[in-house]
Amino acid sequence: MLHPVIVWFLPFRWGTNTYRGCEYNCVYCNARYTHEYLGLGTKEFSHKIIVKDNAAEALDKECSRPNWNKLKTVNLSTVTDPYQPAESEFKITRSVLEVFLKHHNALLLTTKSDLVLRDLDLVTEIGKTGFLNVVITLPTVDEGLRHKIEPNAPSVERRLKTIQQLHQAGIKTGVTAIPLLPLISDDAASVESLVKAVSEAGADYMIVDLLNFRGETRNRFMGFINANYPELRTEYERLYKADYCDKDYSKQVRKQVNALIKKAKLDNYELMFSYRKSVR
Ligand code: SF4
Repeated sequence: MLHPVIVWFLPFRWGTNTYRGCEYNCVYCNARYTHEYLGLGTKEFSHKIIVKDNAAEALDKECSRPNWNKLKTVNLSTVTDPYQPAESEFKITRSVLEVFLKHHNALLLTTKSDLVLRDLDLVTEIGKTGFLNVVITLPTVDEGLRHKIEPNAPSVERRLKTIQQLHQAGIKTGVTAIPLLPLISDDAASVESLVKAVSEAGADYMIVDLLNFRGETRNRFMGFINANYPELRTEYERLYKADYCDKDYSKQVRKQVNALIKKAKLDNYELMFSYRKSVR
């Protein structure tokens, strides 16, 4: 149920997923390859969803091991959204939250969905008894663009309201504005609007990163560019000679965006690492 994540700069050491595949079908998704491990094709990632109906039981066993260290944060989820539409019916994520509450385990809950508010009772209790961050992914506040790149995901408005309600409930709430899209959503005006909206909604911190072309993202995203922004094709080919965006371009964008984040006091990144103090 749990898999180790050995990346020193990430604020979690374990990852888990309550579903495999993700109905949101984001054009920039680079998790599609995970369906191949199940003998399925990457094209089936958004409509053949595997429901882990024994997830709570399996997690309980793992968290009950004598050598299990509950101070090492688990990220739910790493390659799918735990509150995608299937969760309304199957409630697997809710059952897994009950296990996290039982064990007082450090938890990072990552989603694009306002369905997390259904579980505010559990989320609030976990927040009281152990370390918890809820992280909402919101790469743009332009609803037209959001609809193009994340066709089945909740709207900008629903996500901002979710941040607001989590904040009002006293939950530590972060935002990952990932991915920013070069020459589409990373200009100063777009990023300023995004930072302003996230700040007004009450988020504690905001993290940004630019689009990457890992896995089959290059093919899918270039198809999207050809269909929607053909004038950017040559520039994208220049910026993405490798899987990651051109270093100088990235550095420049990060510098500008991080200055805005700092000015808005959305740089409280220590909250993501504060489990050592907050877990009893
Ligand atoms: S929500 Fe995440 S996992 Fe789901 S399609 Fe979008 S990027 Fe992929």
